[in-house]
Amino acid sequence: MSLLVVGSVAFDAIETPFGKTERTVGGAATYFSLAASLFSPVRLVGVVGEDFAANDEAVFHGRKIDLAGLERAAGKSFFWAGRYSDDLRTRETLRTDLNVFAAFQPKLPDAYRDSSFVFLGNIDPQLQRNVLKQMRRRPKLVALDTMNYWISGTRAELEKTLKLIDALLINDEEACQLAGESNLLRAARSVLRMGPKALVIKRGEYGSMMFHRDSILAVPAYPLEEVHDPTGAGDSFAGGFMGYLASHAQANHVSLRRAMVYGSVLGSFAVEKLGVERLRAIKRREAESRARQLVRMMHIKL
Ligand code: AMP
Repeated sequence: MSLLVVGSVAFDAIETPFGKTERTVGGAATYFSLAASLFSPVRLVGVVGEDFAANDEAVFHGRKIDLAGLERAAGKSFFWAGRYSDDLRTRETLRTDLNVFAAFQPKLPDAYRDSSFVFLGNIDPQLQRNVLKQMRRRPKLVALDTMNYWISGTRAELEKTLKLIDALLINDEEACQLAGESNLLRAARSVLRMGPKALVIKRGEYGSMMFHRDSILAVPAYPLEEVHDPTGAGDSFAGGFMGYLASHAQANHVSLRRAMVYGSVLGSFAVEKLGVERLRAIKRREAESRARQLVRMMHIKL
């Protein structure tokens, strides 16, 4: 089923103890689309500048990613630079040049307005609502990402947006900040009262949790011996999660739980190589195999 993503398409400069790149195509919508398109065709809405060349766009080729919604604006593309510590546990943002992203007003091509699954990437909550207003009918599932900047800076707007969505995918710090709570469980309960029916909390190498109805699901991160670049892991998680749901055209309790496994799996692929390199190369059967292994790791009988 149709899956729409709205978010950043960027040039990233990434420095890790394992390598460095001065300029590679990144951005939340890029990681999301590469991960999700393994399962379902993706419709992308974003903006790039005049410096985004045909060979940059090639990152999306070979996958079912519709770029009709990728706007080209006068100016430079969004640029982000980050450096990781030796143990990859902390990251310093060296630069964020919003460039054309600063004036981004998502415009949905007419053919996108019937999308059944929608992922609203980390942008101004008012713009996220604007995307929903452009839909012809209520999607089956709307999921959203946000960050500390919007939680503290535009809280009232974010609260309005949260009332309109089905699932919120954030990390543990953001959940605590949003709820004003230091305990994760209490934070989750409080966030669920703000509107979303499902809350997915990503905790990096410690796995992820989903709070839905009265149940809690904890899924481990797929254990890896070598992690080279954590950039985009969260967006790839979201891509795996939403791509799985869209491919099954379902958003019920059981499918949401299964989607958590695919989120975890796609997050694990994303971190194996620098930038989007590993995500671009992965095959569906590799993801399925890793999903089966992860489920086996979780299987205990008491
Ligand atoms: P993550 O590692 O999940 O934070 O995702 C990193 C990706 O998000 C990079 O490819 C960046 O280009 C992109 N990014 C960084 N800062 C922002 C921002 N403020 N808004 C949207 N995307 C961003």
